[in-house]
Amino acid sequence: MYFSAFSYQETANMFFFTTIRDYHQQLQANESSCSEAVSFYLDNCKRHEHLNAFRELYAEEAIQKAALLDEQRSGGLPLKKMHGVVIAIKDVICYEGHKVSAASRILKDFTSLYTASALQYLIDEEAIIIGSCNCDEFAMGSSNENSAYGPVKNALDESKVPGGSSGGSAVAVQANMCMLSLGSDTGGSVRQPADFCGIIGLKPGYGTISRYGLIAYASSFDQIGIFGKNIDDVFLALEVMAKPDVMDSTMNQSGFTPPAPLTEEKKYKFAFLQQATAHPSLDPEIAKSIDSLQDDLEKAGHETTSIDFDLLDYIVPAYYVLTTAEASSNLSRYDGVRYGYRPETKPENLEAFYAENRSESFGTEVKRRIMLGTFVLSTGYYDAFYTKAQKIRALLVKRMHEIFENYDAVIMPVSPTTAFPLGLHEKDPLAMYLADIYTVFANLTGIPAIALPLFSHSNNMPFGVQVLCNSGSEVTLRDISAGLMMLKKQ
Ligand code: GLN
Repeated sequence: MYFSAFSYQETANMFFFTTIRDYHQQLQANESSCSEAVSFYLDNCKRHEHLNAFRELYAEEAIQKAALLDEQRSGGLPLKKMHGVVIAIKDVICYEGHKVSAASRILKDFTSLYTASALQYLIDEEAIIIGSCNCDEFAMGSSNENSAYGPVKNALDESKVPGGSSGGSAVAVQANMCMLSLGSDTGGSVRQPADFCGIIGLKPGYGTISRYGLIAYASSFDQIGIFGKNIDDVFLALEVMAKPDVMDSTMNQSGFTPPAPLTEEKKYKFAFLQQATAHPSLDPEIAKSIDSLQDDLEKAGHETTSIDFDLLDYIVPAYYVLTTAEASSNLSRYDGVRYGYRPETKPENLEAFYAENRSESFGTEVKRRIMLGTFVLSTGYYDAFYTKAQKIRALLVKRMHEIFENYDAVIMPVSPTTAFPLGLHEKDPLAMYLADIYTVFANLTGIPAIALPLFSHSNNMPFGVQVLCNSGSEVTLRDISAGLMMLKKQ
């Protein structure tokens, strides 16, 4: 069943947000103000405090910034792209003078010394930053239950997880606590929570947005991603953030300057991965909806083909070997000396000092990954695990190129299930890892991908589809996504 409307509605306040463009028109016609917007979102943050979506609210700052923008705005002049847009950020994105903890005890009370480039670009365009959002510790997880500051609840059903690792950012948009939010996506952490919360989640291609100021989990996979409720706003935020940055040498320095969205209807060639829809872990209702989407696209005049994708079962193992290897190296800097929290211990020597700090301050999942990563990189196991996983990554990239020689986009599920109950996978990390089967492909290959909230399940939870395009094809991804969202409205 197509998901008819965003099920989560607010009733308390007069302010009503649809798109940035409408909001800007209202501002220019003096029908609304940034201050009204901020007070609406702060009210909602207060009412939904129990969802635990935020780590910190920058209430005073947001109120002041809104008042300043309202005062400075003079009728008629074009507004900056993010003027008054209320944005929340994940607690892995540095913002000078504000706390950043990666939802970990090891960074408790640590204050950022500089601002992430992508965030700075939003601020330069006059965005209002309302606060930082809860997430899985160091962005490791799929349910937001690995936060040192407690889990986040899904606003549509508070007994369910919001997904992870950017669960707080997803709920902040879902429950109208901001207009847009930022997450990070290393293996699905924007798309999967978007799927569980019934909103849009975009992971841009690797290198599209600067990673400078994003706390690293696995550097060759990490990308900042965007949550929103409509395609125009999400891609507008992408346009603003995807600017060249000398501080990130792995990024594409040409930026993203998209042409206007298509006005005429274009026909596309879609590939559906056979093994993805036939996978035994996939909820049959989700499989059926993907099949029906294929029919609908055919009926609408697009070309669709079910293609063989025999590499599906290798991608989760390859992802976990490579990302834990990178994580074990990235997280070695947290030793209790240079950063944040240092527990009260009386170690006998330096070695014991590090061991005690790290043992006490990292959570179980982070420790598991550091150990796994250290193991796969160790002499004797390096070739058997790390080198092999790199070979799989190379194979996947090759396969991806072959697919995009013939197709404009790939369509597959985002997650095998809808949002699951809190605590369900607590004792079974492997089950949680395996649920990343559909999202990690885009990160292993570096391509852009988006989760679109098209459907609702008979269990009353939303779910969506994932659209993946070739590297550098964010414009095609935008146009296809806009078309699919229209399908939902019909
Ligand atoms: N669920 C995946 C993991 O735990 C993805 C995390 C992410 O994208 N940050 O690694």
